[in-house]
Amino acid sequence: MIVSGYRLIPQAGEANDTMSNFWNKQIERADYLAAESSGSKELLTFYAQLLRAQAEFYDSLRSRKNWLPSGDLETDLPVVRPSMTAILESVARHGPTSLAEEAQTLLTSEPDTLPDALSEYWRNPSDTQFFAKALLQPYARWLAETSTPLAGRELAGGERTCPFCGGRPQLSFLQARESNAESGNRDLLCATCLNSWEFRRVVCANCGEERPVKLGYFHSPEFDHVRIEACDSCQHYIKGIDLTRLGWAVPLVDEIYAAPLDLWAREHGYTKIELNLVGL
Ligand SMILES: [Zn+2]
Ligand SMILES: [Zn+2]
Repeated sequence: MIVSGYRLIPQAGEANDTMSNFWNKQIERADYLAAESSGSKELLTFYAQLLRAQAEFYDSLRSRKNWLPSGDLETDLPVVRPSMTAILESVARHGPTSLAEEAQTLLTSEPDTLPDALSEYWRNPSDTQFFAKALLQPYARWLAETSTPLAGRELAGGERTCPFCGGRPQLSFLQARESNAESGNRDLLCATCLNSWEFRRVVCANCGEERPVKLGYFHSPEFDHVRIEACDSCQHYIKGIDLTRLGWAVPLVDEIYAAPLDLWAREHGYTKIELNLVGL
């Protein structure tokens, strides 16, 4: 906050401190790991830029005066759409070649192309629709934080999809809720709205398999706090981030940092429940 004359003027981001904490935390961790990592450096450098653009978009929604989202994407789109351009520009500048070209195409496309793609994703989310997912995450998170019920999107129901938006889990994480809890609680983090919900520990997040003999956990010494949680009934997997082992890990970012584990899982015949924003 700086004082100018008689008025207090919030500086960029400052007014939204609490809510922006989420994004700042992701960005700081991505910057840190990008500098440290060798194998995933390029992925993390790109992801850090993408997070910055998403955070800016999110802040533009939050700081908009006299406006709250309706929860119906088609109604909100005329308002939120102009702020999405910066995300496309960021991908065009920093993204890998194929995404950068696609971003450039979207920036110059017919006015209906992007809204149509977003509406389609809203009704029927797919992890291969990179742009729709990246553009709608900040919007969906804003809806969740303002407890705005969603319209025009079917909720599948059940514990394996997000109770708020119906999205699929991007990852799972373990954290200690009580100070003396030894092994930690398991939560799933939603790929669409980035909120999390409690989930049972020994259950496949894709098909609900509960028999321990069908569930496998794999990790490598290189990523001590990240493991592959695989299911031999449906042949799917999700990555689990163990915050009881590394308290300052940030699940969304550490999941990308441990990209080599995805290659291992794929080589062993497992399919990921939901691809992340770097396509792994
Ligand atoms: Zn969700
Ligand atoms: Zn399964």
